[in-house]
Amino acid sequence: MQRNKLGNTSLEVSRLGLGGIPFQYISQKETSDIIGTARERGVNLFYTSRMYRDSENKIGLAVRGQRDQVVLGTSTHKRKKTDALREVRESLGNFGTDVIDVYSLHNVLTMAVLKEIMSPGGSYHALEEMRVAGFIKHVGISAHQPETILAALEMAAFDVVEFPLNYVDREAHEGSEKLLEELRRRGIGYVSIKPMVFGYAGNADIAMRYVFNCGPDSTVVGTYNVEELNQNLDSEADARPVSREEILDTIAESEKKCFKVFCRRCDTCIECPQGIDIRQMLRWYEYFDRYHSTDWAREQYRMLKRNLEACDNCGICERECPYHIPIKREFARAKVDLLPRRSPKRLVKKKLFGD
Ligand code: SF4
Ligand code: SF4
Repeated sequence: MQRNKLGNTSLEVSRLGLGGIPFQYISQKETSDIIGTARERGVNLFYTSRMYRDSENKIGLAVRGQRDQVVLGTSTHKRKKTDALREVRESLGNFGTDVIDVYSLHNVLTMAVLKEIMSPGGSYHALEEMRVAGFIKHVGISAHQPETILAALEMAAFDVVEFPLNYVDREAHEGSEKLLEELRRRGIGYVSIKPMVFGYAGNADIAMRYVFNCGPDSTVVGTYNVEELNQNLDSEADARPVSREEILDTIAESEKKCFKVFCRRCDTCIECPQGIDIRQMLRWYEYFDRYHSTDWAREQYRMLKRNLEACDNCGICERECPYHIPIKREFARAKVDLLPRRSPKRLVKKKLFGD
């Protein structure tokens, strides 16, 4: 397993890391089996989020006795300092550690959120305070738009950035190149996320090799069983460059399979006559629907100035979308699901996809 320095930090991380999303849905034994195999094959980076329920606990138990050999990362989506301080304390307890290697501000989706977390009562200051107190080694940030990350880097000293990298999501493959250059220039660690794009990336081997060849310090991927993990580890061991033809073939293959609802953030539909931010709305709904981040997605929805009530079903967006995403149908579902207090019963048994 190739190890890379994480930016200018003192940490060395495996090129393949494990993300925490699946661990909230599988047992402790399954989690420990996956992490045990990963450790045997050289993985040392385990990265999760407060949003992924008991994943910190499960990781902590699975690496017990190996704390000095692993790099632990987690993140908070809380925006206020007091809330984030509480979250850091809870994470320390969950992992069963005195210090967390990287603690990030999770999913800073908009400039407004960035301003909020950087304001005097914002969550950035909680992480910085905990870093100075020795409970966190490095402060990170995750976002999906390069401009948000670049603005954040102008506002504060972050050590690590988590940003999507894959060939499906246009922001990810176009934005990441420029971003990677900037992160290298500043000596900031780059952990790439979402190599499999919720399973939309098609062939897992091609998807993983593509990411390894782009050169982030590490890429974290969620795996639901040891078999999937071994496939990803084999791709890391191989990591031959991926040709353009291979990418096009695998995209065509995944399109055929069924994935017609994934917004590629291409911005073609940006001009909704009713002022609805279509791609942002679709993104939040992905979080609700695929990551089960129900409360968080509803919170984002509540804060919108123009919500789905404004949609008059004109269909302009669908006609413009080059990927034929059934936006009206998705919005009809989202309008129901994102309302507060509705029980998401249909989510319970839903099959999950790799991230
Ligand atoms: S269908 Fe709704 S979201 Fe799409 S362009 Fe018309 S008003 Fe906007
Ligand atoms: S046109 Fe389609 S893929 Fe592009 S941003 Fe809009 S919904 Fe997403």
